[in-house]
Amino acid sequence: MINFNIPPFTGREMEYIRQAVENQKICGDGEFTKKCNEWIEQKTGTAKCLLTTSCTHATELTALLADIKEGDEVIMPSYTFVSTADAFVLRGAKVVFVDIRPDTMNIDERLIEDAITERTKAIVPVHYAGVSCEMDTIMDIAKRHNLLVIEDAAQGIMASYKGKALGAIGDMGCFSFHETKNFSMGEGGALLLQDEKYIEDAEIFREKGTDRSKYYRGQVDKYRWMNYGSSYLPSDMNAAYLWAQLELADEMTNDRLARWHQYNDLLQPLKERGILELPTIPEGCVHNAHMYYAKATDLQERTALIDFLKENGILSVFHYVPLHSAPAGLKFGRFHGEDKYTTKESERLFRLPMYYRLKEEEVDYIVSKVKEFYHV
Ligand SMILES: *Cc1c(COP(=O)(O)O)cnc(C)c1O
Repeated sequence: MINFNIPPFTGREMEYIRQAVENQKICGDGEFTKKCNEWIEQKTGTAKCLLTTSCTHATELTALLADIKEGDEVIMPSYTFVSTADAFVLRGAKVVFVDIRPDTMNIDERLIEDAITERTKAIVPVHYAGVSCEMDTIMDIAKRHNLLVIEDAAQGIMASYKGKALGAIGDMGCFSFHETKNFSMGEGGALLLQDEKYIEDAEIFREKGTDRSKYYRGQVDKYRWMNYGSSYLPSDMNAAYLWAQLELADEMTNDRLARWHQYNDLLQPLKERGILELPTIPEGCVHNAHMYYAKATDLQERTALIDFLKENGILSVFHYVPLHSAPAGLKFGRFHGEDKYTTKESERLFRLPMYYRLKEEEVDYIVSKVKEFYHV
């Protein structure tokens, strides 16, 4: 059986977790958390990184920092994970969904401006499969309408747009280190802040509404309750697990990219015959091989293909059911404009196995079975 995903593991994780335990600092903001934060700051060029308990929680922090309130509107694609919307809905916002581009499955930047109302507070681009949204256009719209840009870069670590790291282009960005992502700590994430004015509030919201972060740095002699907040900081043991991977981030990314290109090369004949649509990487985008997806003709064909692969010991999966058609989406959101591509394209898309140390022979076998299904 070839799994769809195997959580990343380099071999150094246990040693670092042991070190965290021996440091007698297993709660949040220990040595490994600091290493991870600094590494991300350096790698992405962001002003501040704060490791969190998940990308969902990092996004909740952005909603708190953006002071999202009842009745505010937030623009995002409907083709995304629930967390993108949840974080803002929790603050009472209405989610305004905009259609996607069929080539990248990202929000169609040309449709955003029309969805803006006087209640709009933020645009939330989601970089699907680690391939960037059209950020120049999005940043320009946000600037002209005085809106925040909050990047859901859950899948975007190590990817870039015109030389800038995803997650570090908008005002705020969020990474995920869930076990399904390129680098993992089990459950975890990171908040990236481009503007230093948010740092102090972010530290307070993340530490139960206290200024404990300042206290740890010796900047105040006792810590106090400063504002509302919650507990968004991960244990240093989890950060230790992540550190073992960030240290090897280039090697791990290259390993995934090699398999990604192998799929892409081997599947070209199916693309040329008009059988499958393969991913598009727009100019200026460097991706991180988070995912290898392709699109079948329709839902029926996709279901048959996924079943055929399963019979042959290969786990291939589809992806998001568009949020606007889900029960909570109907309640908390509205779709602005026409759903030309969101539903149709999501029904055709399937993902092939992709993980660190997926074997070259396995990709050969998977592609051979896809070709067998199509009699190619
Ligand atoms: C994985 C993912 C999330 C959620 O990440 P968690 O760390 O599990 O909270 C949010 N948005 C997108 C686009 C994702 O892929």
